[in-house]
Amino acid sequence: MSDDRDSDLAETLAEAGRKVGQALTDAVERMRPAFDALADVANLPEVRAVIEFAEKTMRRRPCLCFCSRAHPDDLGVCEKFDAVTTRRFSSDLLGDIEVPQCAPCAAARAAREFAG
Ligand SMILES: [Zn+2]
Ligand SMILES: [Zn+2]
Repeated sequence: MSDDRDSDLAETLAEAGRKVGQALTDAVERMRPAFDALADVANLPEVRAVIEFAEKTMRRRPCLCFCSRAHPDDLGVCEKFDAVTTRRFSSDLLGDIEVPQCAPCAAARAAREFAG
């Protein structure tokens, strides 16, 4: 009897597997036009421009200045994704690290240090 149950189970699993496999195949077939459309869209100049902009932005270094603490009077100057210089930052936890920082922030910090 246990043999029967095992073979029933095996058959049920096989049937379920076939159904899932067929469902996946159907789903892929249904999505194929969408993929093709997506490929066409990705080749449009406008879309390429957006993708290139995103890639450029990703490659840029963010400014890690902590503006609100470093120069609270000039919060708006920060070019958040255009760090061009680094500042040495000493912390007990991390030791000396180079922190990327944008040009306006560097200037604002310098001005504040000079003033204060
Ligand atoms: Zn800043
Ligand atoms: Zn900045």
